[in-house]
Amino acid sequence: ADKSGRARLAVRLAAPRGFCAGVERAIRAVEDALAAYGPPVYVRHEIVHNTHVVNRLKAMGAVFIEDLDAAPADRPVVLSAHGSPRAVHDAAAARNMHVIDATCPLVQKVHAETRRNAARGRHVLLVGHAGHPEVVGTMGQAPEGAVTLVETCADAEAVSPPAGPLAYVTQTTLSVDDAAEIVRILKRRFPAIEGPRRSDICYATSNRQAAAKRIAPGADLVVVIGSPASSNSRRLVDTALAAGAARAILLDAPETFDLDSLEDAQTIGLTAGASAPEVLVETFLARLAARFRLTIETVEAAAEDVVFKPAMMAAG
Ligand code: SF4
Repeated sequence: ADKSGRARLAVRLAAPRGFCAGVERAIRAVEDALAAYGPPVYVRHEIVHNTHVVNRLKAMGAVFIEDLDAAPADRPVVLSAHGSPRAVHDAAAARNMHVIDATCPLVQKVHAETRRNAARGRHVLLVGHAGHPEVVGTMGQAPEGAVTLVETCADAEAVSPPAGPLAYVTQTTLSVDDAAEIVRILKRRFPAIEGPRRSDICYATSNRQAAAKRIAPGADLVVVIGSPASSNSRRLVDTALAAGAARAILLDAPETFDLDSLEDAQTIGLTAGASAPEVLVETFLARLAARFRLTIETVEAAAEDVVFKPAMMAAG
């Protein structure tokens, strides 16, 4: 404790953290649509999996829906960053809706691979998490039955695809290490299996996990700012634990964090998922600074300069 009685706390701040290029682009698509057409603008699914972002856009006039039928045909509709099944695009086209597709270009890459593999007659094994909208969207690129989901190493050992050519693709936000293990099993069992030339796990996911690995060893706690639905944020919690953090938590609302729980902590790590805005990191740090005598060390695992072109506002 210093003279003021405040205890010392060392914070290792991960870099990169927070917003990725796909999230920036998706949020901007909603903002641009609101500016161009006025509210309401409909958004199919949470544009990105973050409570703060969704609430802010709601306050600006965005209306979040799960089913396209909940939107009137004469208002613009934005499709979320996670990507959508072909059937959603077809349904929008059938109703002549004005669609702004905010699917991340790196998810579109996986969609294209999936379609190409299916067109070449390869059965596709999709490594990912059941129920996540990105998985639903990727499965929905190929005809029914053409894609089989593989969630775990046990699934990879047990899966029995139809005879004939095989390929795999993955979700973009998996644990790099877990996915590598699953792919190793698939390649051992099916030596001729085709895979993507470049990993489907995106740069943002890989870089945030690399940084999480650097801040975790010996930390009393690693805090990952992010919402429960965010796959890449949850993987940062797993990564931090695997890399030696005593504890790791997902924190959706930094104003709710119990500072008393840090009473005996000396070093904590701090990062944020790809859908979590930096303002939440700042809120958390400000709360820490009011209570502790902080030393903040930024731990940089990679430099990032990825920017995507804005989503098209064209009709169809
Ligand atoms: Fe795109 Fe990766 Fe960001 Fe998802 S996490 S939106 S795939 S850059």
